Amino acid sequence: MDCRDCARYDKEAAKCRDGKVNPQRYEHALSVAQVMGLRSICVFNDHRERIVGVRHPERPAGGLPVRPSAAE
Ligand code: SF4
Repeated sequence: MDCRDCARYDKEAAKCRDGKVNPQRYEHALSVAQVMGLRSICVFNDHRERIVGVRHPERPAGGLPVRPSAAE
């Protein structure tokens, strides 16, 4: 999600009211997660669930059940 479309975005301050970050690229999101922790990344971020899967390979897609066709 683009922050500018989010109700939690403060347009005057040009930042998230919740103090979250929303990296646009996967590499940036992974670096943020490694340095600041996964909780610093917005729950609406496009890469967050993939990073959860990297950190917890036993729980791909953020712990959600994986369809057999998706696991192949
Ligand atoms: S970081 Fe997330 S919650 Fe904050 S403004 Fe952006 S999309 Fe909204």
